[in-house]
Amino acid sequence: EAENVAIREQNHILVEGDAIPPPITHFADMKIPAPILKYLKIKGINDPTPIQIQGIPTAFAGRDMIGIAFTGSGKTLAFTLPAVMAALEMEARLPFQKGEGPVALMLCPSRELARQTYEGCVAICDALKEKGEYPEIRPMLCMGGVSLSEMGDVLNKGVHLAIATPGRLMDLLEKRKLNLENCKYLCFDEADRMIDMGFEEDVRTIMSFFKHQRQTLLFSATMPRKIQDFAQSSLIDPILVNVGRAGA
Ligand code: ADP
Ligand code: MG
Repeated sequence: EAENVAIREQNHILVEGDAIPPPITHFADMKIPAPILKYLKIKGINDPTPIQIQGIPTAFAGRDMIGIAFTGSGKTLAFTLPAVMAALEMEARLPFQKGEGPVALMLCPSRELARQTYEGCVAICDALKEKGEYPEIRPMLCMGGVSLSEMGDVLNKGVHLAIATPGRLMDLLEKRKLNLENCKYLCFDEADRMIDMGFEEDVRTIMSFFKHQRQTLLFSATMPRKIQDFAQSSLIDPILVNVGRAGA
């Protein structure tokens, strides 16, 4: 325990909450498939950043979480990696059926951000495919400007990961082109921007489409009052992981 405290201190990680999982110092400390570890190395991602050090084990443990860390600190990997793992776990227990909806949903406030997040997921899923040792994990990008026909193949085969902007997702849910009946993992990226942009009502509607108890993660660069209130009403027994800048 003293060691965990030291790791957090060295990395300027403040935590709050019950039964906080121990931080990791290497990606290999988690049960991440070898092809993903190899992919990270190739990308020059050798050691986890502070938000990943505490955020990845927290997300892997199935806990709700509020992750606060500055721009460029590697938040995307902190939630995409656990999302892919959740999909793999689901596949291992209950292989996907045609047309089924996502296990994990990641919501982004802008198309640009959704596309970047989607591309990050595609890269991880492609790495998994390499040797055919793992089941195929299919991500889908769901945002304005991407037509139903473009999404068609993934929609037909079944989607494991959906990366979406709220408006477009609402549209697909309401038209019953997509369902959240299997969805267990919900992540809000740039939650502060999402709320500032007036997406809160859409987001609440989206949450009402969940059938299962869900794990909810909320990432943001800042934690204004609005985020605290939103977290209070949407997360259960969350762990707060707040990374400060060195020297700040
Ligand atoms: P944020 O969402 O916190 O602003 P990103 O997730 O977009 O940050 O990551 C910023 C950059 O850092 C990306 O280019 C990403 O590939 C890279 N990156 C992420 N994690 C690591 C890591 N552990 N080591 C080195 N680079 C990383
Ligand atoms: Mg980001």
